[in-house]
Amino acid sequence: MNILLVGSGGREHALAWKIRQSPLTTTLYIAPGNGGTALEGQNVDIAPDDIPALVDFAISKSIDLVVVGPELPLVLGLKNALEEKNIPCFGPGAYAAQLEGSKGFAKSMMQEAEVPTADFAVFDDFTMAREYLEKQTMPVVIKADGLAAGKGVVIVNTVQEGVTTLREMMEDKVFGSAGTRVVIEEALQGEEASFLAFCDGRTVVALPSSQDHKRIGEGDTGPNTGGMGAYSPAPILPRTDYQATSDLVLKPIIQHLEAMDHPFKGILYAGLMYTDKGPHVLEYNVRFGDPECQPLLARLDTDIVEIMLACVEGRLDTIDIVIKPEHSLCVVLAAKGYPGSYEKGMEISGIDDAEAIPGVKVFQAGTRLENGKTLCNGGRVLGVTALGKDLAEAKDKAYQAVNKIAFNGKYFRGDIGDKGLSRG
Ligand code: AMP
Repeated sequence: MNILLVGSGGREHALAWKIRQSPLTTTLYIAPGNGGTALEGQNVDIAPDDIPALVDFAISKSIDLVVVGPELPLVLGLKNALEEKNIPCFGPGAYAAQLEGSKGFAKSMMQEAEVPTADFAVFDDFTMAREYLEKQTMPVVIKADGLAAGKGVVIVNTVQEGVTTLREMMEDKVFGSAGTRVVIEEALQGEEASFLAFCDGRTVVALPSSQDHKRIGEGDTGPNTGGMGAYSPAPILPRTDYQATSDLVLKPIIQHLEAMDHPFKGILYAGLMYTDKGPHVLEYNVRFGDPECQPLLARLDTDIVEIMLACVEGRLDTIDIVIKPEHSLCVVLAAKGYPGSYEKGMEISGIDDAEAIPGVKVFQAGTRLENGKTLCNGGRVLGVTALGKDLAEAKDKAYQAVNKIAFNGKYFRGDIGDKGLSRG
């Protein structure tokens, strides 16, 4: 098969690495890819939001399957455009992708499908939003409705802070059109976990639980990032609860979309918070999370191309998805300054030494290859991922590998996995 993978992060390197291992793969293209994906296939210089160029490329290379890493092309209707040309695509169409593309849409779907989530209200009008806010008990959470590169969620502790946030989003348009509509919701308390599943429109097969580390600083301090590390499984969501959790937070949405004639084929990701009233959905994503993708795929022992084809063809119930019993843990190495401004172009050394440690794989994110050298090319640079017989061993190996890698300004959190370890 000729396969086109869209995206350029650590997630896409992990996907490319798994796709490359499939005997079904003849040629793999990655648009636009990074220094790591260049080792697994051929990078193509097309931006993930350039839908016509992606479709033209897929036609010209007789692509048999398009795999979409990030959310934006899905929200922009890449799957729909490919379907018109009879090109199979792993990922949902534009309607179902609104689960991620519009927080208001996601909340309505949760309400209709009776999925537990925080109480909320949706506003297009600043004055009405402000009047509602003034009647709430603080803290509350204000969310820009549209895609805001992970920055559109603000927890506010006072009405004053809330009004400022509403004004910034709705009137000053700091997130462009993404913030002209807002969701105001109840702030929940608890530990978070990520729960992802393969879906073929009807059947839902859960992947193991995982946990991301969103904040830049140790002990979950400082600003939010794209994710500084992840591990799997997360003890807060044990294997014995996967079926019940899937029936509570994933199945009802998949059934609801199927009934609406918008079957969801791809990865559905529920961001959960474990409150004292059980798991509540904070958000849905319509693709693999990054970095969770890296420890999850390190544990996947079944041909990913076979699984993706089964999803697209609506026969996921015929596939036996095998997960390695080992635990996995990924530490993100970032450039100094991230998530603010940072430098690019620093040379990276030690990746081979890190991968010489058994069970270690270094996924590349913000990197590029130049004259045989691997250079920093983004905020999150590498995802150092290790398998171990338990979480402690996975952590130990991942940090041994981290210490083998060097580049100027290398920054990482030293406490990835500690929440899981403290739960025993
Ligand atoms: P989201 O993009 O909706 O998942 O929000 C990003 C992050 O904001 C989540 O991972 C949580 O840490 C936090 N968050 C979102 N919604 C809530 C909520 N209702 N209560 C408390 N924290 C929240």
